[in-house]
Amino acid sequence: MTSNPSSAASTYDVVLIGGGIMSATLGALLRQLEPGLSIALFGRLDDVALESSNGWNNAGTGHSALCELNYTPLRPDGTVDISKAVNVNEAFQVSRQFWSYLVESGQIASPRDFLNPIPHMSFVWGPENVDFLRRRHAALQEHPLFAGMSLSTDEGQMRQWMPLVMQDRKSGQPLAATWHPAGTDVNFGALTHRLIDLLRGKPGFDLNLAHEVEDLKPAGSNGWDVSVRAVHGGGERKVRAKFVFIGAGGGALHLLQKSGIPEARGIGGFPVSGQFLRCTNPDVVQQHHAKVYGKASVGAPPMSVPHLDTRVIDGQRGLLFGPYAGFSTKFLKQGSWLDLPRSIRMDNIGAMMAVARDNMPLTKYLIQQVMQSSEDRLKALRDFVPTARKEDWELITAGQRVQVIKKDARRGGVLQFGTEVVTGAGGSIAGLLGASPGASTAAPIMLTVLQRCFGDRLPQWESRLREMIPSYGTKLGQDAALCAQVRERTRTALQLDG
Ligand SMILES: Cc1cc2nc3c(=O)[nH]c(=O)nc-3n(C[C@H](O)[C@H](O)[C@H](O)COP(=O)(O)OP(=O)(O)OC[C@H]3O[C@@H](n4cnc5c(N)ncnc54)[C@H](O)[C@@H]3O)c2cc1C
Repeated sequence: MTSNPSSAASTYDVVLIGGGIMSATLGALLRQLEPGLSIALFGRLDDVALESSNGWNNAGTGHSALCELNYTPLRPDGTVDISKAVNVNEAFQVSRQFWSYLVESGQIASPRDFLNPIPHMSFVWGPENVDFLRRRHAALQEHPLFAGMSLSTDEGQMRQWMPLVMQDRKSGQPLAATWHPAGTDVNFGALTHRLIDLLRGKPGFDLNLAHEVEDLKPAGSNGWDVSVRAVHGGGERKVRAKFVFIGAGGGALHLLQKSGIPEARGIGGFPVSGQFLRCTNPDVVQQHHAKVYGKASVGAPPMSVPHLDTRVIDGQRGLLFGPYAGFSTKFLKQGSWLDLPRSIRMDNIGAMMAVARDNMPLTKYLIQQVMQSSEDRLKALRDFVPTARKEDWELITAGQRVQVIKKDARRGGVLQFGTEVVTGAGGSIAGLLGASPGASTAAPIMLTVLQRCFGDRLPQWESRLREMIPSYGTKLGQDAALCAQVRERTRTALQLDG
């Protein structure tokens, strides 16, 4: 089954397209499960992790629903639905277990290079939002995955948790916050590098940076012919792969369309760009130590919830506020303005038009965001940092997200804010679309890819998977003892104390 590649090989068991966290995670998982597989990675830029996975191109929240209010919607009967929060937290525990295994087995030397403990908080104002936060806290605190969450409406307590947010605050309305010590900040760019380092230089792995995949054609039962262009000259190359993973971020939709698999037909993409304000004053940065998530404004997409984030990048503390949403027709930060028009096909135009018709509040919200002046941005920041001074913050452009548009029998088309794994051709190809909850769930998403595309080998891999991810095949939320065990093991292995 496996072939023996050399650096000039033209046939591989696995071709990974894209140098972000998703390809890196799949490559690292496959290397653990079957070291003999020949794997090639092609990335169009000069290094890995230069798009959404880069540390400064995303918020670095280890999404586990400890603070993100959009994962716990209010039901019409006034109760809080925690099912999505439980799924998101379970998924993050899978990623934590995989990373712990890599640390425990000595394959990643220092978890602090990419993962740091930062309390996760939700913060709201106004009677209705305070009531919602109370209900959310009551619903979550009973659940083993969320044990340890504190709620307070006391300004003194909140000042201890987030002095910068409370300094000079004159709200005149009720305030409430929750605080959880098990939150994390993840530098997904650093993690991508660590995972690629695991593979790089090992027999059976070819890393091809500055190589853009231009086309994919089925090669019958032999897999796929992948056409690759060397970006800095050197011409075109064709490689054959038994299995192809399209981890090209915003570029995945084009490649799935080129593959011609029926499963990609009818899918469209809606790009949403983002910007953050980054604090440039070290004295201000030192006054905050939490990720504080608020409530989204009306019409805002779920990933545009405002938050004030302590970041740890390359050993340095940082402070980000945002995101401010925007609109660009590019599908990648370093993409082309023609990305959106080029993605429109006869099979997806109906769904795209239906989404444009049905999402007027989103359109209005994006127009408002694009039209914002720097004063407007400062005003939004001052909701979180009342003492913020313009000169202490700079605007940075984040990664690009492409939301999935899918056909819908009733409405013609729907806009989705989650992640979608598209597989086809008997499991010989998989692609990842969408970006939420994103990089935090890279490991469980790649387990889905393995289940759908390597089903025949899973029985062989199962015991190894359980060794790496002890909760594999179970629901942590339904097993309090295993949940406590997993949280303790990963907390120790990943050095998340304090
Ligand atoms: C503003 C923002 C905030 C976010 N915040 C969070 C957060 O707090 N927590 C979280 O978990 N997630 C977050 N995310 C989501 C997360 O960043 C993404 O889900 C994740 O980084 C996607 O990884 P990826 O590997 O799929 O794509 P990317 O990191 O975008 O990598 C794609 C790669 O494919 C390459 N590529 C593209 N086309 C081709 C081609 N044709 N040939 C070869 N290579 C190609 C690119 O150059 C790049 O290397 C955020 C995203 C954004 C934009």
